[in-house]
Amino acid sequence: MNADLHCHSSLSDGCLAPAALVRRAHGSGVDMLALTDHDELGGVAAAAREAAALGVKFVPGVEISVSLIDDTTIHIVGLGVDPAHPALAQGLARVRGGREARAARMAAALEKIGIGGTLEGARRFARNPAMIGRAHFARHLVASGVMPDVSTVFEHYLARGKPGFVSHEWASLADAVGWIRGAGGVAVVAHPSRYHRLSNAGLDRLFDDFAALGGEAVEVVAGAHTLEDMRRFATVARRRGLLASCGSDFHCEGESPVDVGRCHPLPPDLVPVWTRLG
Ligand code: AMP
Ligand code: MN
Ligand code: MN
Ligand code: MN
Repeated sequence: MNADLHCHSSLSDGCLAPAALVRRAHGSGVDMLALTDHDELGGVAAAAREAAALGVKFVPGVEISVSLIDDTTIHIVGLGVDPAHPALAQGLARVRGGREARAARMAAALEKIGIGGTLEGARRFARNPAMIGRAHFARHLVASGVMPDVSTVFEHYLARGKPGFVSHEWASLADAVGWIRGAGGVAVVAHPSRYHRLSNAGLDRLFDDFAALGGEAVEVVAGAHTLEDMRRFATVARRRGLLASCGSDFHCEGESPVDVGRCHPLPPDLVPVWTRLG
C-alpha cells in the first residue's frame, strides 16, 4: 500500500492546485492520499473528484495549527473528517481569521530591520488570501533575491527568535482534537521530531494529553523525519498503542525534501492509521 496521508495544495502553502496535486500523487503510484492543508478544507472537494476519476482512494484531511499553553506551536492532522461538519468548519474559520493580522505584524517586524514591502510580496504567493503564512513570505524573499532558498529564509528571518517571527495564538489542543473527532476523523500528532522547544518530558506530556483527549495516531514517517526519528516514534507508537501514520508533507517541487507519494514505508509491526479510515 502506497499511502501518503499528509500534503499541501495551493489552498494553504503548497504550490499545486488540489487536482494537480492528486495527479502528481497518482503519477508516483499512490493508492491512498489525504489532502491536509493548514486550517483549511477548501481543497478537498476538487481533490476528491480528481482522485475518483483516477481511482485513487481519497481521505479528506486537515492540519490544524495548535498553541500549547507555553506558546509552543504544534500541528495536529485530522484524517477522514467530514468537511461540512459545522464545529470543525467554524473552528477552522476562526483559526484562519488570525492570519491576516499576523501577516501584517510580520511585515512590520521585517520593515523594522530594513526589509520593506513583504506583505504585498507575500500576498502575491498566497493564492488563498485567507491562508497567508510564513512560507509565502519566504518565497517572496527568495524571489526578490534577499535569500537563496526558503529554508535559509526561515533560518535567518522567520523561525522563532528571528526578526520576522511574531508569536500567535492558534487553536488549543483540546479544540483541535475535539473538532476532528466531532467531524468523525482520526487525530494524528504531525511530525513530532520537529518540536524542538519541547523537552522529552514536554513531549511525553503532549502525548499524554493528546491520548486523554481521544487522539489516536502519530506520524512515524514524515517528510522531516530521519531514519532515527522514525525509529524513535515507532517506539512511541508501540509503547503507547498509537496508530502509525505516514506522510510526505509535500508542499512544492524543489522545496520539499520528500515528493508526494515517496514516503518511506511504515515498520511492518505497527498498526497503520488507514485501518481506521473508511
Ligand atoms: P505558518 O503556519 O504560517 O506558521 O507556516 C508554517 C509553515 O512554514 C510550515 O507548514 C512549513 O510549510 C513552513 N516552514 C516552517 N518551518 C520551515 C523551515 N525551517 N523551512 C522551510 N519551511 C518551513
Ligand atoms: Mn506548510
Ligand atoms: Mn506541519
Ligand atoms: Mn504539513
